[in-house]
Amino acid sequence: MTIKPMNKWGMDLPENTPIIIAGPCSAETEEQTIASCIGAQKAGAHILRAGIWKPRTSPGSFEGIGEEGLVWLRKAKKETGLPTTIEVASAQNVYTALSYGVDILWIGARTTVNPFVVQEIADALQGKDIPVLVKNPINPDVKLWVGAIKRLQNAGLTRIAAIHRGFDTLAQKNIYRNPPNWGLVSEFKKYLPAISIINDPSHIAGKRELLYTVARKALDLKVDGLMIESHITPDKAWSDPAQQVTSDELKHLLDSLLQKNTADHASDSGTALNSWRSEIDLLDNALIDLLAQRKEIVGNISSFKKKNNISIVQFERWKEMILNRLQTGKSQGLNEQLVEGIFDAIHQDSVRFQRKEQEAETDGEARGKGLEAGS
Ligand code: PEP
Ligand code: MN
Repeated sequence: MTIKPMNKWGMDLPENTPIIIAGPCSAETEEQTIASCIGAQKAGAHILRAGIWKPRTSPGSFEGIGEEGLVWLRKAKKETGLPTTIEVASAQNVYTALSYGVDILWIGARTTVNPFVVQEIADALQGKDIPVLVKNPINPDVKLWVGAIKRLQNAGLTRIAAIHRGFDTLAQKNIYRNPPNWGLVSEFKKYLPAISIINDPSHIAGKRELLYTVARKALDLKVDGLMIESHITPDKAWSDPAQQVTSDELKHLLDSLLQKNTADHASDSGTALNSWRSEIDLLDNALIDLLAQRKEIVGNISSFKKKNNISIVQFERWKEMILNRLQTGKSQGLNEQLVEGIFDAIHQDSVRFQRKEQEAETDGEARGKGLEAGS
């Protein structure tokens, strides 16, 4: 059975425009759900989203409003005339969602990782003609993502699309909440070329300041649509406050991204510039964090060298290190003088720091001995 691209799902979507899914991370109250959905529509959304059951890391945090939220979402659908989509994480969620007339279901990143649950959802959908969006699994395993979609295809569904929401990373510091993996997305397309791909910059970025650059990149790579979280009062949101935007911000973002606002070029480039500057700020702070982590390790090395009577400056090690850094820098297209200058400065500071640490340790020992002698 073939997969139908998303713009052929009979939703009356404009040709050749990215499909926009927007709305709050979670339905919280009736007023917030309806107002956020109306705002999303005004900003240009074609489909409304809201989380009803939320997968949260710790019990006790807000785990979604549950079935009651489906009544509010149904009202929002009636008010706006737009289709709605929610996350389902079990067969029971599927039955409940369908009983309230939800139009599109999505499988969340924490569910895609589990073939048992995906199969349970696929079984619940057997013979039903409903579109389903499948978020990438949290770990970068393309076959798991493809496998989840195949399970839905095997259940007879033809309207299936994928959502790229970024991946968990082992790296300690990253400016993104869930870094994107554009290479994995193109690998995914090799397995399932007909399937539409939606980008979710909200869960990739984790911060509203980074939405523009992530979405820009996705659109440049010809993504079929965007899913962006928007909220009536983002800072007061019960889940994901830092990444949600107001409807005005959403409208401005979409106008800038889709170049609708041609009369207002200055503000378009203003959005881009602000977003790039925020990205630079976050990267610079990440560099400072890394330097602080490095300094801590230098402290351990310093004590070790003192205990074992090893001199602070090890010329061979320094030579080996700088050559390695220069090579790595070159492979990333960085200027040799820049890399050399930075590591020279880091190394000099490290030597200075070790000298100071060792002097302080020696002073401490001397004082200790003095006290013993005096007692
Ligand atoms: C969400 O869309 O609110 C959500 C929980 O997404 P994800 O599964 O990508 O974490
Ligand atoms: Mn969210």
